Amino acid sequence: MAYEAVIGLECHIQLGTRSKMFCGCPAEFGAEPNSNVCPVCLGLPGALPRANRAAIDAAIRLGLALGSEIRGESVFARKNYFYPDMPKNYQITQYERPLCEGGALPVTVDGEERSFALVRVHAEEDTGKSFHPERHGDRRVSRVDFNRAGVPLLELVTRPVFRAPVECGAFLTALRRLVRWLGISGGDMEKGQLRCDANVSLRPAGSEPLGTKTEIKNLNSIGGVMKGLAAEIERQRRVLEQGGAIEQATLLYDADREVLAVMRSKESAHDYRYFPEPDLPVLVVDEAWLAEARRRLPELPWTRAARFASEYGLPPYDAGVLTEQRDLADYYEACAREVDEKLASNWLMTEVLRVLKDRGWTLAEWSERVPPGRLVELLKKVAAKELPGPLAKQVFGWMVEEPGGTGELLDRHGVRVQATPEELRPLVRAVLAENPGPVRQYLGGKSATLGFLVGQVMKKSGGQAAPQVVQELLREELEGARRGC
Ligand code: ADP
Ligand code: MG
Ligand code: ZN
Repeated sequence: MAYEAVIGLECHIQLGTRSKMFCGCPAEFGAEPNSNVCPVCLGLPGALPRANRAAIDAAIRLGLALGSEIRGESVFARKNYFYPDMPKNYQITQYERPLCEGGALPVTVDGEERSFALVRVHAEEDTGKSFHPERHGDRRVSRVDFNRAGVPLLELVTRPVFRAPVECGAFLTALRRLVRWLGISGGDMEKGQLRCDANVSLRPAGSEPLGTKTEIKNLNSIGGVMKGLAAEIERQRRVLEQGGAIEQATLLYDADREVLAVMRSKESAHDYRYFPEPDLPVLVVDEAWLAEARRRLPELPWTRAARFASEYGLPPYDAGVLTEQRDLADYYEACAREVDEKLASNWLMTEVLRVLKDRGWTLAEWSERVPPGRLVELLKKVAAKELPGPLAKQVFGWMVEEPGGTGELLDRHGVRVQATPEELRPLVRAVLAENPGPVRQYLGGKSATLGFLVGQVMKKSGGQAAPQVVQELLREELEGARRGC
């Protein structure tokens, strides 16, 4: 029998707010262990939580971007369980009335526009962090750091809408882009800023009811999510093909060894005994707040990609690459307003992104050195064919290292572009004399031969001639020859 996989994701987004979810402690990463703590996030008796407005605002903006319904009144709840790195022995989260419901994330999968439906997005708090047996003198000890306890998280739950691991990879990539685009999270899975648990079941292809699912935890990269899912789908398929049944379980994926291990089976499933958090009032988001959040929402990445395609005539691939990051899209638009849109796109996607990759620079570090205006000046010369392509690339290379405009850089490096008819005409005539065959072809109507002749003149000039002038001179001379014969 053929089986179809059904997958739903539960994602956690760590928010980049300055303070924690329910207290004023800094939410920063990397501080001295247990230095960013207070009675609230340590769960000391009598301490009272207070919801972080910036975190709720981030959740609202994410919800609006996803087209979710934002509840005017939502409720915090206690989720009770014991975990050594959770000092209160319960987590404050949202259960029955979450802040955002429904919505969907638009995702391009293998060049196809898709949309994956969501169940909800709600606000909650992170736990602390345990460090398991470490050598401490002659003993082995576990230690716990509560700096992360209480850091704001959003939980985003999808419907069981995925049919293949590659769709989940594309979804997470799109979600990462969105949270960065909105400026609400670093979105880095390796740093735990974006986490994902994957629920997966199999069913006979073409049938409607869902099969029994397992949940894979500990997936800390997008590649890991896809590999872990592929492994689990394979395992379930083998069990089912041998006539067995899938047991509901929580699995851990070990990315280094690429294996799955059972963490707990159904028998040990938690009963979280959810109840409304008595120490927090109902969370009220009024129309004014919503309107204000909507007003601050930037043009969204998929809308912007579509606009790049329609307004600048870019192929969907270019539009996708240029909207992977908001500052890259801004940089592109600053260039595209001044110079040929496709030329700007080509140079950004190949030259600029290559430098970023080679040097490990962010776009901000790049634009500090080469603001759009500087690149535009060079590209305008390329577009007007005032600069030969290879020389333009060389100027680009200098631009990365040194200050100055295109002209200044050429001067500094002792390169003079030959652009006057007086200096280029002798080269043009020499090339025509040396290539009687192509000249005949051109005169016989094969105009594409002109490109070859331009190339020959460029070569003769040591790559320093302005192609536009060379082209004009060649045409002129060839027309003269045509009239002459
Ligand atoms: P649980 O109560 O076990 O947490 P939920 O109903 O909250 O389960 O769903 C958790 C996630 O699992 C959601 O993303 C949902 O889409 C997905 N899911 C639910 N049932 C299935 C199933 N049978 N197969 C695959 N995914 C599922
Ligand atoms: Mg659930
Ligand atoms: Zn605190």
